[in-house]
Amino acid sequence: MSGIIAAGSLTAFPNVTANTQTEDSQPFDEAFSRAVDLGNQIADGDDKADLWDIADGLLAGAVQYWLYTRQPCGDARCEDCLAIGTAEARMAELRRLVEQLSEESQYFHAPTDSNVGRA
Ligand SMILES: [Zn+2]
Repeated sequence: MSGIIAAGSLTAFPNVTANTQTEDSQPFDEAFSRAVDLGNQIADGDDKADLWDIADGLLAGAVQYWLYTRQPCGDARCEDCLAIGTAEARMAELRRLVEQLSEESQYFHAPTDSNVGRA
């Protein structure tokens, strides 16, 4: 076990493997589950590793990869690239995606959130 948070608790993405995998969702599911697995591997391999640092590194890599793949193709009339045609447009799209994925995460709300009422 590493740190205060058990690494095992981060593996708890049961939806990933439970999903019925279609042709289209398979690369998404694979990238998603392998990113989580990689975080757990790094944490397991280094008892002193800061989980926040690991998570920030994973996020930095994900953002890097995402931005690389969203470079416009150069055709001014391309409809696919309309939403990502400028750095500002890409940031807006990235923010939208991060918000959506966060809200879909089982960890979006935590029982220890400071705004959770204790009635
Ligand atoms: Zn294009």
